[in-house]
Amino acid sequence: MALSGLDIYKQLPKTNCKDCGLPTCLAFAMKVATKQVGLEACPHVSADAAAALESASRPPIQLVTIGEGEAEIKVGNETQLFRHEEKFHRPTAVAVRISDLDDEQAITDRAAAIGRLAFERVGRQIRVNLVAVDNESGDAAKLENAVKRAAEASGLACVVMSAKAENLRRAAAALSGRRPLLYMTDPAEAEAAAAVAKDENCPLAVRADGLEALAELSSKLAVLGVEQLVLDPGTRGLKPTLEALTAMRRLALKNFRALGYPALAMTAGDDPTMQVVEGCTYVAKYAAVLVTDASEPWQILPILTARQDIYTDPQKPVAVEPRLYSVGAVDGDSPVLVTTNFSLSYYSVESEVEASRVPAHIIAVDTEGTSVLTAWASDKFNAETITKALRQSGLEERLSHKRLVIPGFVAVLSAGVEDESGWGVEIGPKEAAGLPNYLKKQQWNRPA
Ligand code: SF4
Repeated sequence: MALSGLDIYKQLPKTNCKDCGLPTCLAFAMKVATKQVGLEACPHVSADAAAALESASRPPIQLVTIGEGEAEIKVGNETQLFRHEEKFHRPTAVAVRISDLDDEQAITDRAAAIGRLAFERVGRQIRVNLVAVDNESGDAAKLENAVKRAAEASGLACVVMSAKAENLRRAAAALSGRRPLLYMTDPAEAEAAAAVAKDENCPLAVRADGLEALAELSSKLAVLGVEQLVLDPGTRGLKPTLEALTAMRRLALKNFRALGYPALAMTAGDDPTMQVVEGCTYVAKYAAVLVTDASEPWQILPILTARQDIYTDPQKPVAVEPRLYSVGAVDGDSPVLVTTNFSLSYYSVESEVEASRVPAHIIAVDTEGTSVLTAWASDKFNAETITKALRQSGLEERLSHKRLVIPGFVAVLSAGVEDESGWGVEIGPKEAAGLPNYLKKQQWNRPA
């Protein structure tokens, strides 16, 4: 349960000494409550008060770390049921499964391909995070060999899946220093797997059939001292898994501690399209770790796209730096396009300019990350802001022309921009997709 500013204030020294950089203890408490500063910024909080605040403000879902170094990923620590209430904090770790029944070369090739499952989208890289090695053979030596190959070839952290605790022990030893997620698939072996996880300092995933059994199991494991825990409700298939994941999140947010751990979901079945549907659904609600057989780029991209969209902060539009950009070998005759600094708008324009092969300058106007029409409607994309960005770009001194292309949707701005800037304004296409044709057909089409 989140603490209010007053709850926090009661535990502070109330001396208003300003050592935290804020004028009063109350101001500090308010900042801590809204997570703008950490409690550690006050050097005078007593140990007892810090402990009380820490346990009361402990997130309802445990933070779990998988992997080490560059391959490390953290899951959990979520505080909301709906992202618009604040935001979701830790994007789902996507794991692609490999069977240890495959031959050695097939395991290496598949792991290498999984390691390459990365894409550039709206200026950010999105990628698969984990390789999951499934001990379908039941053989410890095969699992050990497979996890070594998978880790090396993919460069990713591992999920090691087995129904035998001793096989997990051997695989964990083989991955020493890589902190794999040990996934015990047989509830009867969960306590033995807990001993392995503690010995090897690894996070542990366990499954049980149904939420009651899962809560009972996690409580037993907590008594054994295993806190780095991930829970699989044991359901397979879209409807029961979605229901279980939603119930787990709701109960965790009501401080039902036995289910206050990150959830693991698996896509089921061989239908490649349904694997994508399931993957996107579980990313949206509320898997912290997704294990899937989907491994083709056309399957993974929609899952990662859903994840990227859901885990952005809904209160902060994804924006690029507002400035001048150049695409291709621009010179003094190149066209000048204006758009807003909303990432999707900017990257749509940039990719279409690239496709046109007509080098161009692009001015991303500071509209606080809003799109062309939204910014126009809120008066952030107007003659003044466009002219200001044009002046700041320094293009006037570098170009042989004074012509500016504005988006077709805001053609109404043309006269104002001409008056304000003294530049000639041309009306571009309404959609970025029309830019290649527009640039080629206009006088900007110059020989290479
Ligand atoms: S440093 Fe601590 S005691 Fe001093 S004003 Fe800030 S919150 Fe209060």
